[in-house]
Amino acid sequence: MDHQGGPFTKMVHAGQEPDGTGAVTVPIYQTSTFAFPDADTGAARFAGQEKGFIYTRLGNPTINACEQCVKALENGQFAIATSSGMGAVSTVYLALLGQGQHMVGTASLYGPSRVLAEKHLARFGVEATFVDTSDLQQVERAMRANTKLVYVESPSNPAMIVTDIAKVAAIAHRHGALLAVDNTFASPHLQKPLDLGADISLHSVSKFLNGHADVIGGIIITRDPELGARLRATMTILGCNMDPHQAFLVLRGVKTLGLRVERAQANAMAIAQYLEAHPKVAWVRYVGLPSHPQYELAKRQMAGPGCVLSFELKGGIEAGKTLMNSVKLATLAVSLGGVETLIEHPASMTHASLSREERLAAGITDGLVRLAVGIEDGEDLLADLDQALSRV
Ligand SMILES: *Cc1c(COP(=O)(O)O)cnc(C)c1O
Repeated sequence: MDHQGGPFTKMVHAGQEPDGTGAVTVPIYQTSTFAFPDADTGAARFAGQEKGFIYTRLGNPTINACEQCVKALENGQFAIATSSGMGAVSTVYLALLGQGQHMVGTASLYGPSRVLAEKHLARFGVEATFVDTSDLQQVERAMRANTKLVYVESPSNPAMIVTDIAKVAAIAHRHGALLAVDNTFASPHLQKPLDLGADISLHSVSKFLNGHADVIGGIIITRDPELGARLRATMTILGCNMDPHQAFLVLRGVKTLGLRVERAQANAMAIAQYLEAHPKVAWVRYVGLPSHPQYELAKRQMAGPGCVLSFELKGGIEAGKTLMNSVKLATLAVSLGGVETLIEHPASMTHASLSREERLAAGITDGLVRLAVGIEDGEDLLADLDQALSRV
């Protein structure tokens, strides 16, 4: 596989070898199973002694191309594509945690990732402690003798809290635990957790990697071969594999990842500055603003501040609702990372499953509004927010 070249070249070409037909794009190998040339070859493939496809849950050329491409973007060695971001999260948890073991996670984790640990893994005797991982002392204090996994989201959703990945990796490794980073919010274009010392980077492909709000998918990337094999074995047993058509769409989306992220990021910066100067806005949290508490850390750790921001209006939740009901170009919907701008209310939508105390501890105030900025004309987005704010 040719992983040479810059990031934009890799997005277009990595993992996408010609298949001999002359097809310029990787075809959709829409098949569940693969014929063996003879019985011995079939046995050798099952024994892992010979390369070759067996059954799509275990591997498929289109899925493989998608894995190779994203792996190259993350500077990884192994990638495992999954049916969804939660498929990736489940695979990581179930591969690395067992009865009597413990994980430490970012308090403001993506809601279901936290619920999976606290409400479901707990039934199988796995303990979890959630702390503000941007505070290294809290991470250090949460570590126990049986801690096997530190699980971080940075920047976190939706409070945009930045965790020092290299420093948390050092803490995890000193305690004999692995560090996994949910890299969904930054995308591999802006942040490479494996380069910073993480053992695992994972994504909801449904967001920036696919980028067109038309696919649910996930992916896990690692460097260590033993860890890669363990994660793949868990994914195939759980059955949360990506399917070939999903993989085809993700490959197409990834080709423009850099272009999309850079344009949406420029829009996000203009909107963040506009909101911060607006008299009806109480506060804005965007990694690219000097007012962000971890502005310097984010600048060192990321290649850019990204495309998602949160803010609160002085009128609190009622004013926020008026704003969300008044925007015409931004769409009122959860999710992020697509070409279109989306606006949502975490306390009543994406983070409604947490208690109010848990939300506040994660920086999610009742009136917080999240804006996932798309690639539309920046002036149009600003004009839309301006007319909506005038109704507040
Ligand atoms: C959306 C999301 C997930 C879950 O991904 P799905 O594809 O919806 O299963 C996990 N982590 C983060 C940060 C997300 O934004």
